[in-house]
Amino acid sequence: MIDTMHLFVTNKCTNNCPLCCNKNYDIEKVPLPSEEELSSISTVCLTGGDPFLLGEKLDKIVNALRSRENIKNIYVFTSGYACLSYIQKFNKLPNINGVTLSPKSGRDFDAIWKLITNYCNKFSKLSSNRLYIFIDKYDDCNYTIDNSELYLLGDANEYLNCQVFLRTWVENFNSPENEIFRRIENYESF
Ligand code: SF4
Repeated sequence: MIDTMHLFVTNKCTNNCPLCCNKNYDIEKVPLPSEEELSSISTVCLTGGDPFLLGEKLDKIVNALRSRENIKNIYVFTSGYACLSYIQKFNKLPNINGVTLSPKSGRDFDAIWKLITNYCNKFSKLSSNRLYIFIDKYDDCNYTIDNSELYLLGDANEYLNCQVFLRTWVENFNSPENEIFRRIENYESF
């Protein structure tokens, strides 16, 4: 049974990662969510691009999803910098259940340090935050991770209420059977 929708809400992004999965498919060919799907799912993961770059439009999307009683959990995926910019501008997070931080650049890492230092109270109220650190696998059983990343893992866990995961890039990610990938055509269309 489908319970989770990954919803692509923008292609705007502050990074240009070589292995970005958005380069592997034509986003226009990703289906729009059906009314039946929107009425039955319990979790929505907003993705892009970086949804925080939408600013107030992100709040409109979140609030529209919130108006559906079946949707209990809304998470936003971000690389970090756009999340910091959003909080600095609006002094809040949207009405969501959690943020998944996945830094890709030095600017993202710096932004997450600023979130830890200045805005941890915004994250402590959320029920499920995650930090994904992408690491290089250099042979079958060894990985590289530098010391600054190690410190970040501990502090994000302690101050941003983040579960921490180490990941490697995969070129072709297949969604689990209970999850679907959809795109938004118009943020006011829900
Ligand atoms: S941060 Fe994410 S969406 Fe942006 S280019 Fe990198 S992988 Fe793609």
